[in-house]
Amino acid sequence: MKGRLRVSELFYSLQGESTRAGLPCAFIRLSGCNLRCSWCDSRYTWQESGTMMSMGGIMDWLAEYPGVMVEVTGGEPLLQEAVYPLLDTLSATGREILLETGGSLGIEQVPVEVGVILDVKCPGSGMAEKNRWQNLEILKERQGQGSRDEVKFVLATEEDFFWAVQVIRERQLLPLLPILFSPVTISLAPERLAVLILEEKLPVRLQLQLHTRLWPGRKRGV
Ligand code: SF4
Repeated sequence: MKGRLRVSELFYSLQGESTRAGLPCAFIRLSGCNLRCSWCDSRYTWQESGTMMSMGGIMDWLAEYPGVMVEVTGGEPLLQEAVYPLLDTLSATGREILLETGGSLGIEQVPVEVGVILDVKCPGSGMAEKNRWQNLEILKERQGQGSRDEVKFVLATEEDFFWAVQVIRERQLLPLLPILFSPVTISLAPERLAVLILEEKLPVRLQLQLHTRLWPGRKRGV
């Protein structure tokens, strides 16, 4: 197996986000990020250098959790070229594989078998100008090929909510894709977001981070 990757952490936990929330999942969190979201909850992925690991080393660790779903995340996992052979290797295991990306880099090379969770950065993140809008069109094409991708908006404010609604309508993301609305709870109360979603009558999914409820205060490994 070729390729080495800079890894921030490997951990086994419950999936805390997406439509797969609640399922056991092996997480491969890669180091490095090209964005600096104002509310980033995993700064250690780009503030610390991480550890170089071989593909074989990662697969050996994964073998301890046979059959479970795998998520490759970051940081920004698509920054490392060796992520593509990793995704190919993971796909060949027959497991369900997810890739979470910040949405600023192209997803063309991600195998269609891999479920992409694509962030769309809202203005409250300070990174909205980094969105690579073409990715949304690629997600639509992938859906025609049987993909199981999702789009995630992290909302820090009510202004972010209405911005996201406009994006969804203008770019015609419904009813093609599962769309997740995840509040930054210190600045947008989940209860308020629930009311906004109901008032807007949009079939988006309110997502609360399950791991922060199960393990409050734990910053890593969940
Ligand atoms: S893309 Fe993710 S890891 Fe990078 S700064 Fe934003 S929240 Fe943090």
